[in-house]
Amino acid sequence: MRSRLFRILPTLSNLIRLPTFRTAPRPLNTTTLKSMPSIPFLSALFGGLSTNTKNTMTSSYPDQRTEDEWRAVLSPEQFRVLREQGTEQPNTGTYNKHAPTSGVYTCAGCKAPLYTAQHKFASGCGWPAYFDSIPGAVVRHEDSSLGMLRVEIVCANCGGHLGHVFRGEGFPTPIDERHCVNSVSLSFVEGDGEGRKEKGGEGEGKGESK
Ligand SMILES: [Zn+2]
Repeated sequence: MRSRLFRILPTLSNLIRLPTFRTAPRPLNTTTLKSMPSIPFLSALFGGLSTNTKNTMTSSYPDQRTEDEWRAVLSPEQFRVLREQGTEQPNTGTYNKHAPTSGVYTCAGCKAPLYTAQHKFASGCGWPAYFDSIPGAVVRHEDSSLGMLRVEIVCANCGGHLGHVFRGEGFPTPIDERHCVNSVSLSFVEGDGEGRKEKGGEGEGKGESK
């Protein structure tokens, strides 16, 4: 395809007397394939989905930091997950079995409040699970990678990848949805989220056991 174009381009540029210049191949936006448990149905049920998956990381989110700026503030693993749509290994995350009675989970990148402790439930899936988010904090995108249709969730403030959301699994939660979120995408703040006092840790003991 490209070579055919190049055969035409010099001709055109001669005609309009533009200098011919070599175009370097643009770097591909490599989306690394990761494994993540998922349920390959879903979909149309999710109203208002953006299908603009490829622009997830470049859409106009309020926090427009560049890749270099993110690398400067994130750990390599946070960068891989938040900015490159990676997935942490199951049952390894700091907040997988974290079950505080109060507090707020914020975006590990931009610190925007995303979920409260009351949204979290024990799904047993290997990642932190929430049945809902703080209103407007999370944006959904259709994700057709890995040969299946899933709903990706990202931070509405910075576009950082959080995980995926699944519906209709039958968990006894107020909303039958499971936001399956990477721990590495999150920070935890005690209180109402204003204090910025971060605290991590396994199992503070409520309701879950290994
Ligand atoms: Zn964010």
